[in-house]
Amino acid sequence: FIEVRDLHKSYGQGHVQVIKGLSLSMDNKDRVVVIGPSGGGKSTLLRCVMGLEQIDSGSISLEGKAYVKRGASEKRTAIDTSTRSSIGMVFQSYTLFPHLSVMQNLTLAPIKSRGVSTSVATERARALLDRFGLSGKANEYPNRLSGGQKQRVAIARALMLDPKLMLFDEVTSALDPELVSEVEQMIIGLAENGLPMMIVTHDMWFARRVATRVIFCADGVIQEDASPQEFFENPKNQRTRDFIENVL
Ligand code: ATP
Ligand code: MG
Repeated sequence: FIEVRDLHKSYGQGHVQVIKGLSLSMDNKDRVVVIGPSGGGKSTLLRCVMGLEQIDSGSISLEGKAYVKRGASEKRTAIDTSTRSSIGMVFQSYTLFPHLSVMQNLTLAPIKSRGVSTSVATERARALLDRFGLSGKANEYPNRLSGGQKQRVAIARALMLDPKLMLFDEVTSALDPELVSEVEQMIIGLAENGLPMMIVTHDMWFARRVATRVIFCADGVIQEDASPQEFFENPKNQRTRDFIENVL
C-alpha cells in the first residue's frame, strides 16, 4: 500500500542528514505508530510521505505508484501532486484558517481544489461535524474553540478530501491533558473504521491502543519494527529497550 524505498533526506544542502536509507512497507490494514527520540526524523519522515519535502534519493509509492522519487544522480525530486492530494495530514499546532468559520474551513478545499459544489460540500461537512459531535460549532471561528475541538475540526477537514491514508504528527502534544482523550478517541474511531494511518506520538497508551505496528525511528533509520505487544513487552533492540524504559 505504502512503500518507502531507501529514503535519504537531508537539510541545508546535505549538511544535516536526517533520514539515511530508510525503507518501510505498509499494508492498507496497517496503522503504523512511529516513536523515537526528539530529532530522530519522525516528522521529517511524515513530511516526506506527505510529499512536502525535496528528498536526496529514494522513492515513496502509494498503491504501486511512485509519487515521490529521486534517483541519486537526478537534480530534483519528482512529486505527483494528484497522489499527494489523496493523503491527509494533521500537525501538532492548529492549522485552521483563523478568518474562516468551521464550516468554511471544511468546505474550502473541496470547493476550490476539487470542484465540488457548495451544497454538496456543505452537506458532507455537516455529516462529518455531526459524526464527531461538532455540529454545534459549524459557524464558530477557530479562536472560539478549545484546543481539542480545533484538532478535531482539523481532522474532519482532512477527512473532507476522502484520504486513502492519514498522517498524524503529535496532534495532541500541544493540548491540555484533559483534552487529549477526545482527540485520541476520534482517531481510534477512524482506525476502527479501517482508515490506514501513520501516527507520531509520545503517548504510549495511545500507541498501544491504535497501532498494528510500532516503529522505533532513530538516527535516520528504523531501529525496530514490531507488533505493539512485541514492541512494548519484548523489544529486540537495546536502544528501543532504553527508550521504552525512559518513557513508561
Ligand atoms: P521531535 O520529536 O522533536 O518532533 P522529530 O523526530 O520529529 O523530533 P524532525 O523534526 O524530523 O525530528 O527533525 C530531525 C532533524 O532534522 C533535527 O535535527 C532537526 O533539527 C532537523 N530539521 C528538521 N526540519 C528542518 C528544517 N526545515 N531545516 C533544517 N533542519 C531541520
Ligand atoms: Mg517531530
